[in-house]
Amino acid sequence: MEYDLVVIGSGPGGYIAAIRASQLGLKTALIEKYKTLGGTCLNVGCIPSKALLDSSEHYHNALHKFPVHGINLKGMTIDFSAMMLRKNEVVAQMNSGTAYLMKKNKIDVFTGVGSFTDTKTIKVTSADKKESILNTKYTIIATGSKPASLPGLNLDKKRIISSTEALNLKEIPKSLIVIGGGVIGLELGSVYARLGTKVSVVEYMDSVIPTMDRALGKELQRTLKKLGFEFYMKHKVTGVENKGKKVVLKAENAKSENIELEAEYCLVAVGRKPYTEGLGLENAGIKTDEKGRIPVDEKLQTKTANIYAIGDVIAGPMLAHKAEEEGVFVAEVISGQKPHINYDLIPGVVYTWPEVASVGQTEEQIKEAGLPYKTGTFSYKANGRAVANMDNNGFAKVISHQETDEVLGVHIIGPRAADIIGEAAVAMEFRASAEDIGRICHAHPTFSEALKEAALDATDKRSLNS
Ligand code: FAD
Ligand code: NAD
Repeated sequence: MEYDLVVIGSGPGGYIAAIRASQLGLKTALIEKYKTLGGTCLNVGCIPSKALLDSSEHYHNALHKFPVHGINLKGMTIDFSAMMLRKNEVVAQMNSGTAYLMKKNKIDVFTGVGSFTDTKTIKVTSADKKESILNTKYTIIATGSKPASLPGLNLDKKRIISSTEALNLKEIPKSLIVIGGGVIGLELGSVYARLGTKVSVVEYMDSVIPTMDRALGKELQRTLKKLGFEFYMKHKVTGVENKGKKVVLKAENAKSENIELEAEYCLVAVGRKPYTEGLGLENAGIKTDEKGRIPVDEKLQTKTANIYAIGDVIAGPMLAHKAEEEGVFVAEVISGQKPHINYDLIPGVVYTWPEVASVGQTEEQIKEAGLPYKTGTFSYKANGRAVANMDNNGFAKVISHQETDEVLGVHIIGPRAADIIGEAAVAMEFRASAEDIGRICHAHPTFSEALKEAALDATDKRSLNS
């Protein structure tokens, strides 16, 4: 079979690339080794985790917030299997939506492992060992990533688990140890903590979500402690053992003191690694780097001119929206267009409650770069909507250039931060000053007014409500 473009991997990078290519008139095929489309994000990542975050938040609110509103639900119980079933249905609905989009865009989908036999030929091997050969002018590798583990640790998927198993537990654990206070650890930790699990986080660094602006991690840790999280910061894990119905974790702190923790499960959430197994890269003249990533140039082109790579399998933040942007970018490059991605403005969101969201540079990065800057903050305690909604934890922080007032970074922890950060991204894409944001009329009462007020505070300390 002859194609203009073959995309290997149907995650948010791959399936979006295929759609854009087809829109631009390329005869396109998409190869996915699993039966369902959508990759990590749809099947075992973004979507199922957000479905469970939503369910667990409803439960938490019903238990702790409803009574304050005068709503008493006596004898409330959780049907955990119903919660999981809803999550599975959400995923299934999105799976069929993606399959529909492939049909609608006339993209040929092949189910099986895609492997290069040479730079222009890809063999697809299905689960029942049937083979198809695809000849193609261009290929996009979008094979994503898999959970990383720690040296010497046996991730047995029974008691010592990754996010994939944590999204599919059969019972609500009484206790859960989480290794890694990053995005996965805190999101999935939140799901179970809200359902009553005792969650203990063991983190190597001195801050949770350590790559985000430090002020955010500090505030998030404070609110998660209130939810019942225990934190063991600056602890290095030295071993984890499956002891049948429980796990035992050993760790060492900065003073070389040893601790031992016990729980029913241990979730390993220490990052993800690029996935290229079975791709036959050696037949395509491509070598991975020291981190297992596929090296690409600024056009996302590999060493082999007709082969491109996008998403988690290349360098950069492992985020679905970054993969999507890259998918569109490469489809347009191949079609002769001159697209652009602004890697400085890829928002990052942690879907805990309160939500955490950032775009642009952190205060630590700006300091290190030696840029003159000013900051403005606004607490949700003074935001009318947040008070009315009993959701007034957190703040918005705007950092702008000392001389030009151009916004350099926006960091928010608070209700609906995930949605508000979009406004900051638009403003920064158009190189707005803090005053520009402060002068835009924001509806009242809304959570987004916190961003306006923080921007006014950064402009010249003229917040109107604090
Ligand atoms: P993937 O989504 O990993 O897709 C790659 C696909 O390629 C897979 O389906 C795989 O089966 C297939 N494949 C691999 N090799 C072959 C082969 N040889 N032949 C055929 N098929 C192959 N990101 C966000 O932005 N927001 C979130 O809220 C978020 N939540 C997450 C929650 C969890 C628990 C996890 C684990 C991740 C989350 N992420 C989130 C990250 C996000 O899922 C990834 O960044 C994103 O899926 C990367 O997309 P991708 O297209 O590069 O690869
Ligand atoms: P992460 O990089 O966000 O966090 C890993 C954490 O583990 C870090 O805090 C790190 O310091 C810590 N760590 C590393 N080694 C350790 C050790 N030996 N002992 C203790 N702690 C250790 O990675 P993750 O949470 O596994 O997520 C993986 C990827 O998936 C991330 O790149 C993330 O962007 C993506 N993801 C995104 C979202 C989202 O956008 N909301 C949600 C989930 C996952």
